[in-house]
Amino acid sequence: MRTEIATLGEFGLIRHLTEGIKPSNKSTKYSIGDDAAVLSYPADKEILITTDLLLEGVHFDLTYVPLKHLGYKSAVVNFSDIYAMNGTPRQITVSIGLSKRFCIEDMEALYAGIRLACEEYGVDIVGGDTSSSLTGLTISITCIGEGEKGKVVYRNGAKETDLICVSGDLGAAYMGLQLLEREKAALRGKGEDVQPDFAGKEYLLERQLKPEARRDIIQKLHEAGIVPTAMMDISDGLSSELLHICTQSHVGCRVYEEHIPIDYQTAVMAEEFNMNLTTCALNGGEDYELLFTVPITDHEKIQDMEGVKLIGHITKPELGCALITRDGQEFELKAQGWNPLKDEKDANPPVE
Ligand code: ADP
Ligand code: MG
Repeated sequence: MRTEIATLGEFGLIRHLTEGIKPSNKSTKYSIGDDAAVLSYPADKEILITTDLLLEGVHFDLTYVPLKHLGYKSAVVNFSDIYAMNGTPRQITVSIGLSKRFCIEDMEALYAGIRLACEEYGVDIVGGDTSSSLTGLTISITCIGEGEKGKVVYRNGAKETDLICVSGDLGAAYMGLQLLEREKAALRGKGEDVQPDFAGKEYLLERQLKPEARRDIIQKLHEAGIVPTAMMDISDGLSSELLHICTQSHVGCRVYEEHIPIDYQTAVMAEEFNMNLTTCALNGGEDYELLFTVPITDHEKIQDMEGVKLIGHITKPELGCALITRDGQEFELKAQGWNPLKDEKDANPPVE
């Protein structure tokens, strides 16, 4: 079914999409419906704000990303940034630019995804803006959250001898993207009834299409009484993020190839694509796992934490940032990153 946006008009569309939204957080004093939302945070909190801009054709491809998934992911990536500060996301605003190609049902699907993410993570939608655009779809979400005063974790606090930890596993979202791109190329020009076969690769697709933010890890760290010295979420790839932490903290690091967590399906897929698995795990983006450092005195506590892996340690700045391979060789970590603005030919895999 396809109902043109014009049948509702801008105000009608906003009303339709935001119908039934009820704030659940104490800090949301007034939500959608006035010139601005009103928030009220207690004095013992720090207020965290983050924003993300997603452009069709640059950050997402609607030929294989369903709009509901896109909505879910655009909200979750913002929550992930707030958790990466050791905070809790509470509110979002959602701004949308859309061309005539999109109908009311498309926007319903997008909002169903955004609303589902908000329900699951306990976040209120408190406002936004809606405009027509000349080409494509643009989504910008801003997230507001809270952190305990004195417990907010920055990128610049890593100290020599600290342990480097990551949650979950790495490289799967990137392999999921490769898989979708391959199927898109293979199916081009074929009939609509030709369905790609993703059997056995569900995890990779899920990691690409429906990522989750690691609220559970933040909770576990809190329960264990651990406050990381530095933390960030992995959106551009482990190498690039580690370099951010080291640069901002004025330290070096050593990470061990054998300790980098990788899922079985990621390994199988890398082999199928004839790609270096470690390169994928170091440089593949969009995993939204947490990368953090903890004092060595927390070693026992962190070692037993489920879903967290120790991958190395922080060193003096003079030692640089090094990857130690399985056979004991040392390579300088480079920020290849995952960045759609970057040219393919810059690719420089650290391990062959
Ligand atoms: P203004 O003219 O002040 O920009 P709007 O008519 O655009 O107001 O918006 C009316 C209300 O609807 C505001 O509370 C605004 O935050 C909210 N709103 C507008 N667009 C969206 C959207 N895409 N998602 C959620 N809330 C929205
Ligand atoms: Mg407006």
